[in-house]
Amino acid sequence: MPAEPILRVAIPAPLRHALDYLPPAGVGAGAIGPGMRVVVPLGPRRLVGVITEVIARSELAPGKLRRALALPDAAPLVPPDLLALCTFAARYYHAPLGEVVVNTLPVELRTVERAPRRVARCWQATTESFGLGEAALARAPKQAAALAFLQRQGPADDAACRAAGIDGATLRALEHKGLAMAAPAGHAATPAVPAPAASAAAPALNAGQQAALAALEQACGAFHCALLEGVTGSGKTEVYLRFIERVLARGRQALVLVPEIGLTPQTRQRFEARFGHGIAVLHSGLGDRERLDTWRRCADGRARVLIGTRSALFSPLPELGAIIVDEEHDASFKQQEGFRYSARDLAVVRARQLGVPVVLGSATPSTESLANCASGRFLHLRLHERAGAARPPAVRLLDVRGQALEGGMCGDTIARIGAELAAGNQALVFLNRRGWAPVLSCTDCGWMGECRHCDARMTLHRAERLLWCHHCDARSPVPSACPHCRSARLVALGTGTERTEHTLQRLFPAFPIRRIDRGTMQARDAMEQLIGQLERGEPCILVGTQMLAKGHHFPHVTLVAIIDLDGGLFSADFRAAERTGQLLVQVAGRAGRAERPGEVLVQTFHPGHPWLTRLVDGGYEAFIEPILVERRQQGLPPYAHLAILRAESREQQPALALLQELKQELLHEHRTVQIIGPVPAPMQRRAGFHRLQLLLSHAQRTPLHAALDAACGLLETRRAPGVERWHIDVDPQEGA
Ligand code: ADP
Ligand code: ZN
Ligand code: ZN
Repeated sequence: MPAEPILRVAIPAPLRHALDYLPPAGVGAGAIGPGMRVVVPLGPRRLVGVITEVIARSELAPGKLRRALALPDAAPLVPPDLLALCTFAARYYHAPLGEVVVNTLPVELRTVERAPRRVARCWQATTESFGLGEAALARAPKQAAALAFLQRQGPADDAACRAAGIDGATLRALEHKGLAMAAPAGHAATPAVPAPAASAAAPALNAGQQAALAALEQACGAFHCALLEGVTGSGKTEVYLRFIERVLARGRQALVLVPEIGLTPQTRQRFEARFGHGIAVLHSGLGDRERLDTWRRCADGRARVLIGTRSALFSPLPELGAIIVDEEHDASFKQQEGFRYSARDLAVVRARQLGVPVVLGSATPSTESLANCASGRFLHLRLHERAGAARPPAVRLLDVRGQALEGGMCGDTIARIGAELAAGNQALVFLNRRGWAPVLSCTDCGWMGECRHCDARMTLHRAERLLWCHHCDARSPVPSACPHCRSARLVALGTGTERTEHTLQRLFPAFPIRRIDRGTMQARDAMEQLIGQLERGEPCILVGTQMLAKGHHFPHVTLVAIIDLDGGLFSADFRAAERTGQLLVQVAGRAGRAERPGEVLVQTFHPGHPWLTRLVDGGYEAFIEPILVERRQQGLPPYAHLAILRAESREQQPALALLQELKQELLHEHRTVQIIGPVPAPMQRRAGFHRLQLLLSHAQRTPLHAALDAACGLLETRRAPGVERWHIDVDPQEGA
């Protein structure tokens, strides 16, 4: 008798090695395969894992292998290409494979209790059924009706069939005759229905757009990566739409990744108007049921275009033919906790694995992508003008030294806002700080409201009457007297969006003021409603944080005032310049999108700062070039590879000791890797933990990853009393 196969199972636990199990009792080798879910015991628990491999021999002694409990599905839920992507990602980011793989499944399919015993099946007409003569099913009217339904509808799951009055026996009869086939929902083959034809009229492309589209199409059938650079409003989205049109016409699916809060109702409507009902969206605002539904529609091919944020990259798309990453520079593509991956970088990996093109688009490309263009790895496509009639905004620096500020605004800014309102226009005021004021302080003794758990001040939120830590979410009531000296002279220092809004209300009582930040935009359709109001074009003022800087069209805004950019100018983070430049250009891009030219005011205490003057005089390109030169000289990304190894403990000592020890051991074997630290993380204490880190860097990836592998090995086996947790961040976007 041949030995039983062994299942290598990825389970959602922080384990860096896979676990081996015997198949569930009574399940034969023919019924199991990679990508299928399996319920396994782990200690006293039962978990849903995913089979990553079926192997002949385990390193565990046969007697030690436990038996899996159940195989819930008849077919794999994680298709081979996603499994390959997850395997790459887990290795590259030094993340536990189980967490990576299982997270590709909707929550509803991840737990034993909630996982349906059998996944719903998806029925579809077979290719053969289309050639069937009319008389063939004349004596089986129910089957004829059911087949007509499937041919018309494309794949339909059990529920949809029932809703159409089709029972299981009819479907099985069709299956028996080879006229219909069933797969677990999520695994239908190519749908019989063609993709919906483009419906909305598309504008004629300008010369730049045509050239970009032609370049993209040339390499349409194979892997290649293009960077599409063009200012906001230059018509990048129009190029994506045309490119996707071609992809769909070849019977393939397309994936469009957008920043966390960049998926606007307008974007969605624009895609729907062009492509009809084959659009699916995936973002953090969806409930579990909606996610499951979207996942199914992607997997069975009903969705032809998926637009989604970061995690949408891991959706099953059996006919994926192209990936687009819009606003590729955006920091939200990098997950900052748990599995710290970059969806942009993995999009390139997924495209390469599948042999399909990927397009990264931005008005302000990241240094990484620009370096990839310079080295010839990416194709650099540029749109130089604004599409249609729009003209670029004029940017002006306002020197605010020695001026009294009201709600963070100088007299000039206020006057310009007033003038625009009087002319019937809309104005936008940008500052990247929520709340009323960043600090509450005592004028008698100098006390400042600090967070007990973090090295940070608490932000005053006046409406909620709270001091609120934006780093750990701790809140406390606003004290009526100084907790230190009992003085009643407490003052709010600095300005947040709430305070600016209040000032504007006082100055311009006749006009509506709309605040846009995480506090006001929590309701699901808050942004949708707001945009509806703005599109009517009545004069008003928008006040907001960087939520304003992403993707939204504000066609009636003619004035943008950026009132606090200075914070970014003096940050210790080597990415500060890049980020500041991107933010300024992105916020500025909100103005003058329609036929009205826009104006951008930038208030600053440092009008001579080289970053600002370069941006204002030469635009993003002139700004970013010297930054790339500096990075190269300093051996920083994108010309070197970085990783952070961070440990956290309640007291400082245990994390420090662990990292010191680790550094010594790593230096021994991995001499060429530069290791800095242990040093405190940028905010050493956060949410009650001391956070210390080693910074590893190397000009090449391979030696760096060898050192990280070694570090993982050491950390997993080491007992380090007092160290609560550790993690590795590869290609960190912050904290280095
Ligand atoms: P981006 O994605 O670069 O911000 P969009 O594709 O959204 O630019 O284009 C900005 C605006 O210009 C949109 O309203 C779009 O419909 C319009 N537009 C784009 N291309 C053209 C074109 N070739 N002719 C006329 N209008 C265009
Ligand atoms: Zn005091
Ligand atoms: Zn805190």
